[in-house]
Amino acid sequence: MTQKILIAGSGFAGLWAALSAARAVSLAGREGDVEVTIVSPTPNVAIRPRLYEAELADMNPDISALLAAVGVRHIAGLVDAVDGAARTATVRTSDGGWQTIGYDRFVLAAGSRLFRPDLPGIDLVFDSDQHDSAQALDRHLKALADEPATPARNTVVVAGGGLTGLETATEMPGRLRAALGPDAAIRVVIVDTAATIGAAMGAEAVPHIREALDEAGVESRAGVRVAAVEPGAVRLSSGERIETDTVVWSAGMRAHPLAAKIPGEHDPLGRVVGDVFLRAPEAPGVFVTGDTVQVATDDQGNVNVMSCQHAMSLGRVAGHNAAAELVGLPLHPYSQPKYVTCLDLGPWGALYTEGWDRKVRFTRDEGKAIKREINGVWIYPPAPDRDAVFGIANPDYVIVP
Ligand SMILES: Cc1cc2nc3c(=O)[nH]c(=O)nc-3n(C[C@H](O)[C@H](O)[C@H](O)COP(=O)(O)OP(=O)(O)OC[C@H]3O[C@@H](n4cnc5c(N)ncnc54)[C@H](O)[C@@H]3O)c2cc1C
Repeated sequence: MTQKILIAGSGFAGLWAALSAARAVSLAGREGDVEVTIVSPTPNVAIRPRLYEAELADMNPDISALLAAVGVRHIAGLVDAVDGAARTATVRTSDGGWQTIGYDRFVLAAGSRLFRPDLPGIDLVFDSDQHDSAQALDRHLKALADEPATPARNTVVVAGGGLTGLETATEMPGRLRAALGPDAAIRVVIVDTAATIGAAMGAEAVPHIREALDEAGVESRAGVRVAAVEPGAVRLSSGERIETDTVVWSAGMRAHPLAAKIPGEHDPLGRVVGDVFLRAPEAPGVFVTGDTVQVATDDQGNVNVMSCQHAMSLGRVAGHNAAAELVGLPLHPYSQPKYVTCLDLGPWGALYTEGWDRKVRFTRDEGKAIKREINGVWIYPPAPDRDAVFGIANPDYVIVP
């Protein structure tokens, strides 16, 4: 009887899990015995790391041909529940129906969601977290041109000074000028609870981040939090009120709610603490990957961060191991000791760091060239060429060598 690997999600982790599982099945000569299926709303990969950019075309590439090339099925829908005892997943299909799908191995790759705290006016904020919310922000920015030129119209407040907030804030002056005209009196303010904006990127990075914000004309409010959002304004914990029609929320991510339904230990971000093979230790037959798992990246005490860099490797390992258990190949332990970050800082350029202590290696144009390569090439799905794909779908392949 055909055995089934069911993968929830077609993001970076889900796609690579499927490709890697298909490769392992092929390697074992067991095509036809094991079926690999992805469930996700559409057969697309949302290029989430670029959703802060102005141009959103080509940010949601279609992977139908790629999946067909390696024999992976796609079901359009959302996994709603997983029954570990029965080994079934309940799927709400995109045509409005329901399906119960049996599995031998289930891979949770449903990613993460922006964390929205419970504060007054939170429903008024925009974000760049998902493709549709990024499009909504873009429509809003463009529509500002039709509004009277008030300080609120001309001001964007970015809540959160992490990587995504910094990328959003340094891109925003250009986006506002494009929408409102080069001479508009625009204002962009970034707000963060940390005492120093960019401190999480490490001491070496801070002066570069400061310089990039200054060059872009972005104001900072450090050591404060957004206390409330109102129509036309935002209130900070310092008591300051900033007139704005546009608050972009960028203050952290949490694992997809399905992760909470997988039994076992969870970390503060809601991720399942996985074993070295990316199994959910207390859920037989279930693998967790991408932004839904927390696992050690090395033997130095570091764990994966919610990132494409980790999701693409975690996906490969989880997909391989899910298939390996079914076809009798050795399991592959997850390990990814090399860690880099590449932070886009708008017209200033980009900041490339290496290591968990974030040593600055490249800045400005040199950093930007690397960022373009990562964001424009490395993280995109490969062409639908079965042999070429299997050549890079092995579990020890890393995009940052
Ligand atoms: C604005 C922004 C900038 C970022 N910048 C960077 C960066 O510079 N570098 C970096 O490495 N990372 C960056 N990240 C983080 C990175 O995008 C994520 O860590 C990465 O997308 C995680 O991959 P994933 O496959 O686990 O999840 P996702 O990419 O979120 O994919 C999840 C998939 O699951 C599907 N899905 C959701 N719910 C269900 C369900 N119930 N059933 C089935 N399918 C479901 C979704 O449709 C999607 O296909 C950024 C994120 C954002 C939002």
